[in-house]
Amino acid sequence: TDTATLRVIRAEDEHLAHNYHPLPVVVSRAEGAWVTDVEGKRYLDLLSAYSALNFGHGHPALVAAAQEQLARVTLTSRAYHSDRLGEFAFALAELCGKDLVLPMNTGAEAVETGIKVARAWGYRVKGIAPDAATIVVAHGNFHGRTTTIVGFSDDPVSHDDFGPYGGGFVHVPYGDAAAIEAAIDDNTAAVLIEPIQGEAGVIIPPEGYLRAVREICTRRGVLFIADEIQSGLGRVGTTFACDREEVVPDVYLLGKALGGGIVPVSAVVADRDVLGVIRAGEHGSTFGGNPLAAAVGTRVVEMLQTGEFQKRAAALGEHLEAKLGELVGRGVTEVRIAGLWAGIDIDPAVGTGREVAERLLARGVLAKDTHGQTLRIAPPLVIRATELDWAVEQLKLVLAG
Ligand code: PLP
Repeated sequence: TDTATLRVIRAEDEHLAHNYHPLPVVVSRAEGAWVTDVEGKRYLDLLSAYSALNFGHGHPALVAAAQEQLARVTLTSRAYHSDRLGEFAFALAELCGKDLVLPMNTGAEAVETGIKVARAWGYRVKGIAPDAATIVVAHGNFHGRTTTIVGFSDDPVSHDDFGPYGGGFVHVPYGDAAAIEAAIDDNTAAVLIEPIQGEAGVIIPPEGYLRAVREICTRRGVLFIADEIQSGLGRVGTTFACDREEVVPDVYLLGKALGGGIVPVSAVVADRDVLGVIRAGEHGSTFGGNPLAAAVGTRVVEMLQTGEFQKRAAALGEHLEAKLGELVGRGVTEVRIAGLWAGIDIDPAVGTGREVAERLLARGVLAKDTHGQTLRIAPPLVIRATELDWAVEQLKLVLAG
């Protein structure tokens, strides 16, 4: 049958590079936790654009901030000042408890910026010999898709056939602080980790890991860079995933939800003794810190400053944890959950993560697989408990066949 959905997908297939394998649903509208497809069917969105939509689709306060700014000025480039960027930097620095903000657009750019900052700090402050700086990274990491970043990914799909790769990265197992300690030498500028690994399947390190990493980095004179691009900004029930262990990294990498699901906004946030190493002309981005991004980002920070979304994520996360726990042994082999973020390992006897996602789609629930058997869910923090219950009920039905 020739549905509107199939027509759109066929047209895309003609001219779109196949670098994604989307679920066969064509979204045309969305509000809060719900999206509507081209045929008028509604779906509960349990993915939130990989956590970029923490505040839901079309949050009125964020849409208002964007609309107001659209009518004023959207882009100046950093060749000029805008009357929006300073207030954004002030608000974000305050949220992070840091001095300085370097605004970029995408997550990968924030990671690249963090790497540049760490290396420059290594040479200019720590005194590492030219071109000798190394950064310790974790197995199973996901930090984005640019050439430097995929060079230190150990996921063959992300990594293979995109070399030659730049050096300077040392791998250690994730969740093992002693391995970090052993990997550090005089040339180590930084340790770069996700406080919870998202793309790897919502992998939560053992309790005490982040505190140990903090202690080791301080004692050995190495920067602790936390990639909070997916884990941060309310997702896990605290502002940052590092807050779960009351740990403050030297450098926060932020993105996704920072743009409220409206514009790409990312940032590197650190104190002056670190981020201050970058000099005029050494780094930048035409769109980085543009007035539209700054206006939306400022509103995002204001919304996080109330703590309301963090509280919601924590409470709903507990609720979800209890519900998902009931599925273990009934088509689910393991559930890992932090706030409103869960990795659900599907029993291979039921099917793959992708197959479960497709069956959920047929029942009006959107979620996405990661790495074969894992279903990753990250609902908008505005979702209601009753909506979560309904979604889990659909999952139960799918698992039961
Ligand atoms: N870092 C982490 C932890 C991520 O999860 C992602 C995206 O999934 C990125 C970086 C890259 O962000 P972007 O896709 O905006 O480049």
